[in-house]
Amino acid sequence: MLKPDTHYQMSAVPDIEMTLTGTAAAGGVPLYGCDCPACLRAVRNPAYRRRATSAKVKTKSETLCIDCGLMNLAEHYPPGSLDAILLTHFHVDHVQGLFELRWGKGQKIPVYCPNDPAGCADLLKHSGILDFRPIQPFEPLLLKSCTVTPLLLMHSRPCHGYLIERRGYRIAYLTDTVGLPDETLLWLTQHTPDMMILDCSHPPSENKPRNHNDLSIATEIHQQLGIKHTILTHISHDMDNWLIAGGQLAEGIELGHDGMTL
Ligand SMILES: [Zn+2]
Ligand SMILES: [Zn+2]
Ligand SMILES: [Zn+2]
Repeated sequence: MLKPDTHYQMSAVPDIEMTLTGTAAAGGVPLYGCDCPACLRAVRNPAYRRRATSAKVKTKSETLCIDCGLMNLAEHYPPGSLDAILLTHFHVDHVQGLFELRWGKGQKIPVYCPNDPAGCADLLKHSGILDFRPIQPFEPLLLKSCTVTPLLLMHSRPCHGYLIERRGYRIAYLTDTVGLPDETLLWLTQHTPDMMILDCSHPPSENKPRNHNDLSIATEIHQQLGIKHTILTHISHDMDNWLIAGGQLAEGIELGHDGMTL
């Protein structure tokens, strides 16, 4: 269940911190015009609101932003504070904040992204202060204080998860995806993450989802890889409603919420 003020310490490596700045499926929670229990709860209590799925990664020497669906990026990343952006893919709910940010001033910001020449609208053509750098899955990127490896995901357009590693501590950030490709499963088996942030847009369902994990698939990935701590993200109001109605998560799996610090 949601625990809006939960704070986790990474005892093994205290100098890397990830904050889930957004945990919503496209449309957010509350969904515009919806009067289901999850949406009404989110209207009444802002702690239950979910905005575009995204995360901030901070170490002593750098700040990274994973995905840019938030429209108030400047409040999360004051000018000069952002070292690099990691984009999972070019769907609108993951890039919309860049349409404003690109016209800013100052140093160019590297934006590592999948090789997807279509991009989103005119973002690649008129990139302003954004320096888009397409990268290949499984080719590690050495940043200032950590190694970031893009992982292939299964989605309706080219999409990367990211494995962030610092001093032997590994965090896997895997959204948007439905299941995981064999290459990624194999890679994660050989480099088991200490913590995994995983797409779980839908509650368990009889129909196989097309673009995003449901809880059955997310649980299977968690158990297959033997992850100690998995946090679900890209949550829809359906998933929230399923939990409100008494749905339970398997051991080691926890629901993410906006502002959660790991
Ligand atoms: Zn709703
Ligand atoms: Zn997507
Ligand atoms: Zn999405």
